[in-house]
Amino acid sequence: MTDAPIRVTVWNEFIHEQTAASTREIYPEGIHAALAAALREHLGSAVAVRSATLDEPEHGLTSDVLARTDVLTWWGHKAHDRVNDAVVDRVQRRVLEGMGLLVLHSGHASKIFRRLMGTSCMLRWREAAERERIWIVDPSHPIVDGLEGEFFEIPHTEMYGEYFDIPRPDEVILISWYEGGEVFRSGCTFRRGKGKVFYFSPGHETFPIYHDANVRRIIANAVCWAAPCGSPYFGDGRRIEAPLSPIAAKHIVDESLHRKG
Ligand code: ZN
Repeated sequence: MTDAPIRVTVWNEFIHEQTAASTREIYPEGIHAALAAALREHLGSAVAVRSATLDEPEHGLTSDVLARTDVLTWWGHKAHDRVNDAVVDRVQRRVLEGMGLLVLHSGHASKIFRRLMGTSCMLRWREAAERERIWIVDPSHPIVDGLEGEFFEIPHTEMYGEYFDIPRPDEVILISWYEGGEVFRSGCTFRRGKGKVFYFSPGHETFPIYHDANVRRIIANAVCWAAPCGSPYFGDGRRIEAPLSPIAAKHIVDESLHRKG
């Protein structure tokens, strides 16, 4: 263990805040600023936060930035298709190498989440300012550390409902119930390569959900959970010509079987 801070890059599409008064009123400095503040509030000097947005060169996610990112958080909604595929490739590679990824709310439809999941990642939705009750269904999980009670509520939310087309999660930590009747797996984890991925659904742009104390705590906890740990990642498949110890069998390899084409 070292005392080095977890290096977090908070990525935001940053369109609604510049084009819609309803969002700007809630997030005058952008959703990324609210998320960064939540991380600093909960984690203090244990975290070093930077932000990046769609309109920056390479969306602010250059190789250098990603190499110095332990955990990336992703919020996008309107412009998933404007995210350059080369950047998606780069982020995916970093996740496989061990970078943590938090996919927030409408990020379910982002290129990077769909790439990592391999499914459509689509869901049912309704914007009706209804109540959401978020049940903790894995109370031992560090992502819900410090939450009080069996559930918490968000008074006005956008409904995200099942069926949510994701592969079976490694862990389902939160399940939401909505006033209108639907339910949703609102907090799920996945492992990809050496990287840890957390999907967390609350966070619609016209409700002050990222100002909610429980939501902020969960996101901060998730950053700590997703930070890289353990041994290096050796995901590069390769031929091992020389065995580590002698092999008794005599075997002639038919090289033609291994050639491409
Ligand atoms: Zn939304």
